[in-house]
Amino acid sequence: MKLDICTNADLHCHSTVSDGTMEPEALAARAKANGVELWALTDHDEIGGQQRALEAALDQGMAYLTGCEISVTFAGKVVHIVGLGFDHRNQQMIDGLRATRGGRELRAREMAAGLAQVGIKGAYEGALHYVGNPEAISRTHFARFLVEAGHCSDVPEVFRRYLTEGKPGFVEHKWARLGDALRWIREAGGIAVIAHPARYGFTPTEEYALFTEFIGHGGRGVEVVTGSHTAAEAVKYADTALEFGLLASRGSDFHSPEESHTDLGRLPALPGRLEPVWQALEARVHQPA
Ligand code: AMP
Ligand code: MN
Ligand code: MN
Ligand code: MN
Repeated sequence: MKLDICTNADLHCHSTVSDGTMEPEALAARAKANGVELWALTDHDEIGGQQRALEAALDQGMAYLTGCEISVTFAGKVVHIVGLGFDHRNQQMIDGLRATRGGRELRAREMAAGLAQVGIKGAYEGALHYVGNPEAISRTHFARFLVEAGHCSDVPEVFRRYLTEGKPGFVEHKWARLGDALRWIREAGGIAVIAHPARYGFTPTEEYALFTEFIGHGGRGVEVVTGSHTAAEAVKYADTALEFGLLASRGSDFHSPEESHTDLGRLPALPGRLEPVWQALEARVHQPA
């Protein structure tokens, strides 16, 4: 298959291996049904689903790029870095991601303790009930439990009331360092992309620092069209990509048919003046027979 800017590429989504609700194979089928031509599964801090996703994509006749969304602490905030087209058997990357996930269980217990103080009991066990992979326990799993237990009517409300900075279930956490995450991706043969840059709430100065340091560490791309951006934000980050000479990526950030407002593959095209990250990764794309 020839890749160009019009390729329906969806290079950001989550399965039960992290905080999505669908198995990799079911996601592959859904992506195909929605017209995706080039797909990447990008679970948080975990590449244990890559072989399954790759095989499922090829079975569906879809091209595949390996993917992962790495949680990084930068300027006291969490930044997500999407790695694409790396060797998913690379030991340094496997070990680095395992260390990144390492603190999730303790953090989850502290989150549950914070929630217990405001009268929400059993949140750790409740959240665990939703996790396919216990090492991957995340705020999303807590949010699903709090909705189920009737504390809130939907997941965004849980985040607003309980799981964001200053709220009872929020626990400060140290994730991977930007330079480490970028080294793992680069040395495994992949390209690093800044995920949904509009979501961090950085000042212009902080954002400039993020992009500059990211490029200094060998980062090459930025998500422009994502389910996490408004149309205006996509325009803004198209300009940013051009300003910094970055490749552009596109991905729904799909987690669940019930929770996600952007479905797999149902995104606007990248603005034509940009260079898509998937063209730079052509040699790393797994093509169906
Ligand atoms: P964690 O890695 O445990 O901090 O959880 C982060 C995940 O929570 C993200 O990947 C999103 O899936 C989800 N999330 C973050 N903020 C919100 C929000 N405001 N509403 C719904 N989901 C969110
Ligand atoms: Mn998530
Ligand atoms: Mn993210
Ligand atoms: Mn994501």
